[in-house]
Amino acid sequence: MSDDTAKARGTVLGIDIGGTKMAAALVSADGTVLTGDRIATPSGDADQVFAALGELIERVSGDAAPLAVGIGSAGPVDQQHGLVSPVNIAGWRNFPIVDRVRAMTGDIPVALGLDGHCFALGEFWGGAGRDAHTLLGIVVSTGVGGGLVVDGKPLIGQSGNAAHIGHVVIDQDGEACVCGSFGCVEAYASGPRMVARAQRSGWRTGETVDAEVLAADAAAGDELALAAFDDGAQALAAGIVATAVTVDLTAVVIGGGVAKAGPVLFDPVQAWVKRLAQLPFVTDLTVVPAQLDNAGLLGAAHQAWAALA
Ligand SMILES: [Zn+2]
Repeated sequence: MSDDTAKARGTVLGIDIGGTKMAAALVSADGTVLTGDRIATPSGDADQVFAALGELIERVSGDAAPLAVGIGSAGPVDQQHGLVSPVNIAGWRNFPIVDRVRAMTGDIPVALGLDGHCFALGEFWGGAGRDAHTLLGIVVSTGVGGGLVVDGKPLIGQSGNAAHIGHVVIDQDGEACVCGSFGCVEAYASGPRMVARAQRSGWRTGETVDAEVLAADAAAGDELALAAFDDGAQALAAGIVATAVTVDLTAVVIGGGVAKAGPVLFDPVQAWVKRLAQLPFVTDLTVVPAQLDNAGLLGAAHQAWAALA
């Protein structure tokens, strides 16, 4: 037996499924990624998409026999039945991901969770949320998702959908949200909503631009771009503080594409949290950027180890 095989014996397989990329890795019990790879998420029907993922799993697994599999997927997911219907993967609607993966790996535990939960768990295991007692992880991109680790354990919920921080209502008379409600955090703080807000105020009106351009302009001091980030940050802070007083948060980590904006997002988020968090047990709450570029994958693997415990 080669050293590599020996090393790979005590591993689990983590799988991260997103609308733009899919990643897989063998991960040891201490969170070390032994082998890993990623592919662009293919388009096509259900079997075509799975064929690409299956190839990735085979390539990453090699001759290792992982003890369990953890899958983190863009939602919605149906944990009870092992199904996924990622909004941005049109070929998968109620796709039986757990059964299909288990058919490849043999009869081992296969855990499935939301990508936002896995992000929070990954940052808790080895990133900016290390050692946190109660952590809120937020992913800000085209939407706003997240996950909670409460008293050191992931909060899943009966349906598997706990911690939908993007749909915490912060203004019941506010803007319509994609979910059907009004005044949700996501209706102000997602990348596209901040861009739309800026354009309504006269910023780059008529141009096709995204949150990256908005962030660059804000960093260069553009007042309208800064105001849009401040609006989004206020909404995020309101959602964070609502969560903080509900579950006694000790840490908040924000990742996702829009979080790459850096200080133009984090400075106003921190200022608004300081303004809104007044009860003594939340006044020290800090909000920090994510540290890992593979938090979702690590969190998926963490679920697999938890399934073995
Ligand atoms: Zn909503």
